[in-house]
Amino acid sequence: MTPETKYDLAITGGGLAGLSLAILQAKAGKSVVLFEKNTYPFHRVCGEYISLESWDFLESLGLPLSQMNLPIIKNLQVTSPSGTSLEAPLDLGGFGISRYKLDFELAKIAKNLGVKVLESTKVNDIRKTETQFEVYTEKEVYLSKMAVGSFGKRSNLDVDWKRPFITKNRTSLNQYVGVKYHIKTDFPKDKIALHNFSDGYCGISAIEDDLYCLCYMTTKANLKKSDNSIALMEDKILSKNPFLREIFKNSEKVWPQPEVISQISFEKKGQFEKEIPLLGDASGMIAPLCGNGMSMAFHGAYLLNDLLESVENLQENYPKRWNHEFSTRLQVGRTVQSLFGNPVMTDILIRSMKFAPSFLQLIIKNTHGKKIGKI
Ligand SMILES: Cc1cc2nc3c(=O)[nH]c(=O)nc-3n(C[C@H](O)[C@H](O)[C@H](O)COP(=O)(O)OP(=O)(O)OC[C@H]3O[C@@H](n4cnc5c(N)ncnc54)[C@H](O)[C@@H]3O)c2cc1C
Repeated sequence: MTPETKYDLAITGGGLAGLSLAILQAKAGKSVVLFEKNTYPFHRVCGEYISLESWDFLESLGLPLSQMNLPIIKNLQVTSPSGTSLEAPLDLGGFGISRYKLDFELAKIAKNLGVKVLESTKVNDIRKTETQFEVYTEKEVYLSKMAVGSFGKRSNLDVDWKRPFITKNRTSLNQYVGVKYHIKTDFPKDKIALHNFSDGYCGISAIEDDLYCLCYMTTKANLKKSDNSIALMEDKILSKNPFLREIFKNSEKVWPQPEVISQISFEKKGQFEKEIPLLGDASGMIAPLCGNGMSMAFHGAYLLNDLLESVENLQENYPKRWNHEFSTRLQVGRTVQSLFGNPVMTDILIRSMKFAPSFLQLIIKNTHGKKIGKI
C-alpha cells in the first residue's frame, strides 16, 4: 500500500540529528515525514552531557533550556584506574539533560510544526529512483523528493546495506559495549567526572530532577572476562578505581537494570550511502570520552539543512563541509580513545597532564566545536 502524499523530505531515525533536521526543515516550510522505530519518551545509552556550543541552537529550535533549571557543568575531573585524579575547568563547559526528556521535547516541537512523526515505525529500506525516494516500512511505502538517514550508531539498514564498518573484521575500534544508569548520589552538580578503569571509562554528571547519569563504555572482552555479567564486571573491574568503588557503593540506582548497547564502532563511515545523505552517528561517531557526539549531531543537521537549499551539488558539497567541520575532532577523538584504557598508560598520562595542564585544554579544545551557526 502506498500513501498518496509525496513529502519534501523523509527522515529515517528520530534521534537528535533527525529531529533537529526535521524541525529546521519544517520551519523552512517543507513537508517532512520522520520514522522512529521506538516510541517517545524512551531511555538510551548516552552520557547526557551536552557541550554549551549547542545551547543557542537548541533554544532556536524552540526548546526553552533557560527555563528548564538544568545543571550547568563547568569543571572536569579525570581519574586513572588506580585513583590518580586531575581536575580542570572546562573552557566552554556543558549542561546535563536526559535523552528521555530531550528527544521527547524535540519530537513534540517537530509534531507541533507539522512534521509527521511516525513512531514505532521501523524503516526496512530506502531506495532512490530517477524521480523520487521510496521509504519502505513494514506496512507501507512512503514517497519523498529527498531522503536522509539519521539512524544512529548501528541500524538494521547498516547491516542490510553491508556498510563497510559492518563488514570490516573485528578491530579495537569496533567492539565496544555501552552501559547507562540514572542514579541518586552526592556529587557536585557543576562537575563531570571521567573515571578510567582497565579498558574503559565511566562518566558521571548531573541531569534534571536531582538525578545523575552514570554511563560507561568498555570492550566486549572485558564483559566476556566477567562471564558476561555486568554486575560482576562492575565489581571486579570498574570498582578497582577507588572513585568508582565509592560511587557504586553510595548511589541508588533509579532502575534495577541498566540500558545496554553493544557493537559500538568508531570506524570511519561516510556521508552517503545509496545516494542518501547520512547524518549524526550514521555518518561517523566520535569517542564518548570526548563527550561531544550530540553537538555533532546538531551541527550536522544545521549544516545539511543549509545544503538542502540547493541539492544539485549535495554529493560534492556535503562531504566537503562535513570533513571541514568534523574530521579533526574525530581524529583527535580516536587518538585520545586509543591512549586511554591501559591502566599504567592512563596513570602516566594523567600524572603528566597535572604538570602540563595546557595539554588537557588542547584536547578539550580540539574535540569541541564553535557555537552552531558560526560554521
Ligand atoms: C556510551 C556512550 C556515551 C555517550 N555520551 C555522550 C555524551 O555524554 N555527550 C554527547 O554529546 N554524546 C555522547 N554520546 C554520543 C551521542 O549519544 C550520539 O552521538 C548521539 O546520540 C547521535 O545522535 P543521532 O541522532 O545520530 O543518533 P541516535 O540518537 O542514536 O538516534 C538514532 C535513531 O534512529 C532510530 N532508528 C535506527 N534505525 C532505524 C530504522 N531502521 N527505522 C526507524 N528508526 C531507526 C533509533 O531508534 C534512534 O532513535 C555517547 C555515546 C555512547 C555510545
